[in-house]
Amino acid sequence: MRLSQLFARTTREAPKDEVAINARLLTRAGYVEKLMAGVYSYLPLGLRVLRKIETIVRQEMNTIGGEEILMPLLHPKSIWQTTGGWDSIDILFKLRSRTEKEYALGQSEEEVVTPLIMRRVNTYQDLPIAVYQIHWKFRDELRSKSGLLRGIEFFMKDMYSFHEDQKDFERFYQVVKEAYLKVFSQLGLVAKVTEASGGSFSEKISYEFMVLTDAGEDEILYCDECEFCVNLEIAKVKAGDTCTKCSQGKLNKARASEVGNVFDLGQKYGQDFNLGFSGRDNEKQYPVMGCYGIGISRLMGVIVEKSHDEKGIIWPEIVAPFQYHIIPLLSKDESKNKEIIEMAETLAREHEDDALIDDRDGVSAGEKFADADLIGIPYRVVISEKTLKGGGVEIKKRNETEVHIKSSLN
Ligand code: ATP
Ligand code: MG
Repeated sequence: MRLSQLFARTTREAPKDEVAINARLLTRAGYVEKLMAGVYSYLPLGLRVLRKIETIVRQEMNTIGGEEILMPLLHPKSIWQTTGGWDSIDILFKLRSRTEKEYALGQSEEEVVTPLIMRRVNTYQDLPIAVYQIHWKFRDELRSKSGLLRGIEFFMKDMYSFHEDQKDFERFYQVVKEAYLKVFSQLGLVAKVTEASGGSFSEKISYEFMVLTDAGEDEILYCDECEFCVNLEIAKVKAGDTCTKCSQGKLNKARASEVGNVFDLGQKYGQDFNLGFSGRDNEKQYPVMGCYGIGISRLMGVIVEKSHDEKGIIWPEIVAPFQYHIIPLLSKDESKNKEIIEMAETLAREHEDDALIDDRDGVSAGEKFADADLIGIPYRVVISEKTLKGGGVEIKKRNETEVHIKSSLN
């Protein structure tokens, strides 16, 4: 991709109304643009990052047997009345059409997925089933000051599983938990698993996957010796207490952002829709369901919160929009420039899917370097008269200071 052709230019200043670091840097570097609080457009570089996160999540969901589907965002009022959500869920967006019909926008999709799946399940032998989608969600959130961390419209992976009994749900929960930890560690994040109350309908425990960051909106207590971790909101323990799990470590308080969540939905949704299946004793049974979310757009924001410096973003290679940021620096001696440009263009061609080339005219070396730091691509590759004399190109990792002269990028 050519920087000269990117319509999304970098800017020195962040918009005045953006307070969160992720939104300030992502906007300045041309990854996203705010339409209104909590609602962003993803520009070419931003969409590449979002897609990379999505791909990692999709691979892990496929690996554990999730079947990908795409469900509607626009829902009839009736399904939300069936479950009680129409009146009880405060963040549910409700719309009225010109013919006075009422609709809801998907904030989660149990109301759509339960009839979709259970109409196709006759006996226990048809279970378990796990389906997922990667799609937009709408929530009438009150605070959206955290950039991509809290959207009113945001991108989520939501999976729903259907089981014969609680035991099979719990088996699958462990599988999902492992897959989630794999996703987060691939993204370079350490996620702590907390126990929290189960949300609006169920009394059951839910599990949250928390990444420590000051930008997060949750407060957690975690043990410095074992994996014990709990959301402060519901905790019976406090900071400084001895860990109730291992009796060794101390509990520390930290801010965190919830990047994933798993709920035990019990039999509520099957019962609400009166959609069951015939069990082993031929009696009608309702499925035990689980629901599992990962905040894809929130993850993009969390990665920036965790990985930046005063100059800009530092993308982990796995989600970076490109691996190489190629900067040809023209010489005062014009006879040298043909070779410089050719070398830069050749490298960009050889690494077409992985290279951004700063081919802008009339932009100083200093500005090009500043933009490279802001955009945050892992490897900066400079080609100049000096590097050619040294036998190649100068490569610098975004998070390191020393430069290396190499004859190729490999
Ligand atoms: P939170 O406590 O942060 O509001 P939640 O418990 O409402 O999250 P879920 O309903 O389980 O979250 O949604 C699944 C995942 O989607 C969350 O773990 C989070 O990563 C992400 N998510 C939830 N709400 C938002 C939002 N408003 N903006 C961006 N991502 C979100
Ligand atoms: Mg919420």
